[in-house]
Amino acid sequence: MQYYSTNKQVPPVSLQDAVMKGLAPDKGLFMPEAINPLPKEFFDTIETLSFQEIACRVAGAFFGEDVPAGTLKDIVYDTMSFDAPLVWVTDRICSLELFHGPTLAFKDVGGRFMARLLGYFIRKQGQKNVNVLVATSGDTGSAVANGFLGVEGIHVYVLYPKGKVSEIQEKQFTTLGRNITALEVDGAFDDCQALVKSAFMDKELNERLLLTSANSINVARFLPQAFYYFHAYAQLKRWGRADRVVVCVPSGNFGNITAGLFGKRMGLPIRRFIAANNKNDVFCRYLQTGVYDPRPSVTTIANAMDVGDPSNFARILDLYGHSHAAIVAGISGATFTDEQISETVRNVYTDTGYLLDPHGACGYRALEEGLRPGETGVFLETAHPAKFLETVEGIIGDKVEIPAGLKAFMKGEKKSLPMTKAFEDFKRYLLGKLKVES
Ligand SMILES: *Cc1c(COP(=O)(O)O)cnc(C)c1O
Repeated sequence: MQYYSTNKQVPPVSLQDAVMKGLAPDKGLFMPEAINPLPKEFFDTIETLSFQEIACRVAGAFFGEDVPAGTLKDIVYDTMSFDAPLVWVTDRICSLELFHGPTLAFKDVGGRFMARLLGYFIRKQGQKNVNVLVATSGDTGSAVANGFLGVEGIHVYVLYPKGKVSEIQEKQFTTLGRNITALEVDGAFDDCQALVKSAFMDKELNERLLLTSANSINVARFLPQAFYYFHAYAQLKRWGRADRVVVCVPSGNFGNITAGLFGKRMGLPIRRFIAANNKNDVFCRYLQTGVYDPRPSVTTIANAMDVGDPSNFARILDLYGHSHAAIVAGISGATFTDEQISETVRNVYTDTGYLLDPHGACGYRALEEGLRPGETGVFLETAHPAKFLETVEGIIGDKVEIPAGLKAFMKGEKKSLPMTKAFEDFKRYLLGKLKVES
């Protein structure tokens, strides 16, 4: 399968090149030239399949032409070594819990899959010293860093905004050492993302270093996120609740929801999608006005969604042929203040006993307000509430139990390097690393 750039200024490339490059040379995002629908027989029997079996079928539709079936199956089974259960919160809203992976956020799926696929391509090419650059608003860094930890021939640089991620999030990528380096950027997430994008556009850096990106712009991170939408549908079908399904995705860079939209294009019977946002509402405003007007991000308690210029918007536009009407017909939006998010976490906890994290709370609330009669709502619970411990405990006035996996991270010692948001400084640092190595 070939992958074209959404900017269409460069020729299409192979999967391997799309994964290695991350971003297309014309700054566009790679898109597969075809989205292969899955056969009716798959949907007729999907409720009899395990998560891993479903993921293999979906992965085959994306990557089957480019990766041998046995290798792909190993990558999928190794990636999906945890479940994504659907849990009822009310009689018509359920939570797709995507926090059962090693770093307790949905990004484990894409991060682990990408590490393994990139590892396969690097071994195949006999390459050494691949540098993975990843900007994080909180959870990407840990999922990617943990996915790549100890993978030979790869060094990961995690760029994160100083003082804008929770202590637990920070610990998950600053305590690992080995082939993982954390760079603490004096700026916002958008500055981190701009540094990474500039690095890919810089001729000198790319001549001297092999750079790749693990942000949701990378197709190997982004596409596997489709797996769990199919798995959610299978669980609903088992319960006889698969008609009129509405899926609500707490969104920041819009990679997760775009993977769901791909799923729908492959035949997954989801009636409509809702993108739930915090106060960073550029997508909601686009839906209302038809004008995409990116702004600097504002800080909220759902910090992994503090994104002012979501990268994957380019993919959504492309997927819907740049038609505002088509986008509005398929996706609606919702935006919530910190006060509304807190109120939702508190009320749902009091009324049902279910503890939401601030991101999932946006998803739940959008469904509560937006579901129509006869519809069943699924929101993606994108991270475990304990990842936002101070915030969530402050809201509910109660202790949150910390899962054992998370406790282990908290014992580690933070190691990070300070970095300014000036690209020249970042470039000098990367070139300096090269000198030390050679
Ligand atoms: C990354 C993240 C999001 C946003 O996902 P996108 O794919 O960037 O839209 C939402 N919630 C949590 C907890 C996250 O870590």
